[in-house]
Amino acid sequence: MKHFDTPHPEAWLRVLPDGLFCEPGGFYVDPVRPVDRAVITHAHADHARPGHAHVLASAETLAIMRVRMGVDRAGTVQQEQPYGQVLTIGEVRVWLQPAGHVLGAAQVAMEWRGSRAVVSGDYKRAPDPTCAPFEPIPCDVFVTEATFALPVFRHPPPEAEIAKLLASVALFPERTHVVGAYALGKCQRVIALLRRAGWDRPIYLHGAQMPLCAEYERLGVPLGDLRPATVANKADLAGAIVIAPPGAIADRWARRLAEPVVCLASGWMRVRQRARSRGVELPLVISDHADWDELNATVDEVGAPEIWVTHGREEALIHEVAKRGVRGRALRLLGYGDEEEDLPAQGEAA
Ligand SMILES: [Zn+2]
Ligand SMILES: [Zn+2]
Repeated sequence: MKHFDTPHPEAWLRVLPDGLFCEPGGFYVDPVRPVDRAVITHAHADHARPGHAHVLASAETLAIMRVRMGVDRAGTVQQEQPYGQVLTIGEVRVWLQPAGHVLGAAQVAMEWRGSRAVVSGDYKRAPDPTCAPFEPIPCDVFVTEATFALPVFRHPPPEAEIAKLLASVALFPERTHVVGAYALGKCQRVIALLRRAGWDRPIYLHGAQMPLCAEYERLGVPLGDLRPATVANKADLAGAIVIAPPGAIADRWARRLAEPVVCLASGWMRVRQRARSRGVELPLVISDHADWDELNATVDEVGAPEIWVTHGREEALIHEVAKRGVRGRALRLLGYGDEEEDLPAQGEAA
């Protein structure tokens, strides 16, 4: 219900150096430095930082944070919040809704005096067998990411990209296909997509991929027969699929494999130059972020008269939605840029 004096979200959701601060609730969303009270959208390193006193997040996000940073550093007090369940923090009604990004990822909906803002964190609209789908929430201000907010970024169906990988495996049965995929989300999604496409042989993992795959399975996402690539001998890996961190696919580790075909699963693989510069023979355009069409469709769907745009190409999206009468504001928050896809030009192991 609207109050006659409904405040604009600008009056109560503030952009501070540590991140978005919900003043009447006394909490930050995805703060970049340790704070007293944090609500965390998902466990990627740019959103989930260690050392907060009180952390509220989905059970899955908290579980993944504990695996990545240790029980203590994941938050002194850890409060698990199921999707869709409303709670009151200070004077603010708060709830989480799936974001479709990685396991446990949530949008944070906040309502104060009839004024509603939704912080989407990172999100995508394409179906993902490893996490709950994005649910649009009508709001007054929608805070959206803009990682792939340019018309050139249109992600093909992930099934088609997986079919390309399997066609290459069939074509080169004596070579090892080593697929670069980030450890949280992308790796498990690629595995789940391979299983759905009928690949029931063992999938081999670089050691860095093992802990989160084990955690996904513990949290109820089946991934099939997974084996360590390090102890398996080279003969076993001929004709096999190995999943490794993007930083490892072109280094000495990968060269030990049988005539490796270097693949990389990322939304950036849409840009040929990116694939070439990283020595990628088989680019796979698989992204956990909304593409240009998904960003625009989502803005229309939530019906917000105003969007706040963060990490990515803010200006292009703001310009586009303005044509439809939606106001846009670039937040210019520092410290975000997905660990998982916003690949640095150098130091790619990050
Ligand atoms: Zn993310
Ligand atoms: Zn992000």
